Amino acid sequence: MMASSTKAQKIGKPPKHNETETPGLMEWLRRTNFNDLANSEMHSRDFNGSRAEYIYMRIRLLSFMFSILALLWIPIDIFIVPEEALGSILGLRIAYSGLFLILGLVTKGPQSLYCARLRLSAFVLIPCLFYIGSRLVFNADTDVGGALVGYSFLPYLTVVLLAIFPLTLLEGISYASLVGITFLGCEIYFGGLLTISALGDIWLLVLLAGIAVWAQLAQLHMLLRLYREASRDALTGLVNRRVLNKWLQLEITRARQQQRPLSILLFDLDFFKRVNDTYGHLTGDKVLQAFSRLLKRDLANYNLIGRYGGEEFLAVLPGLDEAGAMVIADRIRKNCHMVKTKGPEGCLVSFTVSIGVTGLRDMDNTEILVNRVDKGLYSAKMKGRDIVVLAEEQPAEKPEDSENS
Ligand code: GH3
Ligand code: MG
Ligand code: MG
Repeated sequence: MMASSTKAQKIGKPPKHNETETPGLMEWLRRTNFNDLANSEMHSRDFNGSRAEYIYMRIRLLSFMFSILALLWIPIDIFIVPEEALGSILGLRIAYSGLFLILGLVTKGPQSLYCARLRLSAFVLIPCLFYIGSRLVFNADTDVGGALVGYSFLPYLTVVLLAIFPLTLLEGISYASLVGITFLGCEIYFGGLLTISALGDIWLLVLLAGIAVWAQLAQLHMLLRLYREASRDALTGLVNRRVLNKWLQLEITRARQQQRPLSILLFDLDFFKRVNDTYGHLTGDKVLQAFSRLLKRDLANYNLIGRYGGEEFLAVLPGLDEAGAMVIADRIRKNCHMVKTKGPEGCLVSFTVSIGVTGLRDMDNTEILVNRVDKGLYSAKMKGRDIVVLAEEQPAEKPEDSENS
C-alpha cells in the first residue's frame, strides 16, 4: 500500500530557481530570513534538538581537551610562576581542570536546547572564573602577570572558541558579553580601565567577538539550510518521512507521559496513477500540492503533517481520540470534493482521498501504530475508496457497500 519514497524522488518537481547558481547579494538577502538567525523562536523542535546535540558534542570534546591541557601546563607554571603564587595557581588550575572534566563527563539530562545553553554557559564561565582567580593571584606583582601571557590571553581564547558553535545572534552576543563583563570587571577592580593598554585590549576583544558572532551565524545559516533541505519535501513543502517518524516517536512518548490520547491519519490519493496517465505528471504534481495545501489548512491546529511517500500523507493529532480523529478525517475527505486543479488546456481535475485512522493503544510503538493505520487505509481502498476507515485489529475484508464513512 505505501509507495516507496524513491518513487517520490524520481518524480520530484524541479526547484523554482537554480540552486546551484551563486546568488547575488540582493538574492542572498531575499533568501535569508534574518529572524531565523536573530533568535530561535521560529526554529522547529526537531531542529532545536539537532542543534542542541551538535553544541553538546562539541562542548564535551573541548571540555575533555581543556581538562587535560590545563594539567599539562603545570610544569610550565612551576618554572614561570613565583614561588609565593605557585600554590594558589596550581589550586586554581586543578579546579579548572576538574570542572571541565565534570562538564565533559556529565551526560545526564535531556539534550534539549535549554540544556545545551546551560552547558555552554558553564563552558564560558569556567575560564572566566579562572581568569578572575589568576588576576587576583597575580595582581600583587603586575610585572609577573604581564609576562604570563597564557593567563592574560584567556578571555580572547574563550571568545574565539565560541566561533565553533552554531549560535543565534542573541546567544552569540550573550556569551560574548559574559566574557566582556568578566574582563571589564577585572579592569575596573584593578583600576586599569582607563589605560591605553586596557582600551587596546577591549578593542581587540570586541573585534574578536564580532568575528566569532559572524562565524556562529554563518554556521547556523548553513545548518538551517541543510536541515530544511534534508527534512522538507521540495514539492509540497511538508516534512518528509524521516522527520515524521521522529515526531511520531516524540508524540507517543509525550502522550504516554501526559496520559493524553493520540491519533494518526494516513491519506492516500485515489487512482492517482490514472491522474498522471490522463493529465500528465505536472498536473499530478499540482494535485499533490493542492492536497497538501488543504491538509495544512484543515489541520492548522496540529501542524504535524508530512508526505509519507509518493501520494501518501500522514498526520499526527496529539490530544485527539479516535472519534475526534474520524470527524476531522471525514471533513478533509469531503473538502477534497470541492478542490479543482487546473489541468492541460484549462480542464479542471478533481481528486478523492482514502483515509485510515487509528488511535494510540497501550502496547503500541511507532511501527505497530503505523502498521495498524496502514491496514485501515488498505481497508478503505478495499471498500471502494473515497472513504474513512477506523483501523481494526482483524484483517480487512471486501464488503459490498462502498458508501461508508
Ligand atoms: P490507489 O487508489 O490504489 O491508491 O491507486 P493509485 O493509482 O493512487 O496508486 P499507485 O500506487 O498504483 O500509484 C501511485 C502513483 O503516484 C504512481 C506514481 O507515479 C505517482 N506518484 C508518486 N509520487 C509522485 C509525484 O511526486 N508526482 C506525481 N505526479 N506522481 C507521483
Ligand atoms: Mg499509494
Ligand atoms: Mg493512491
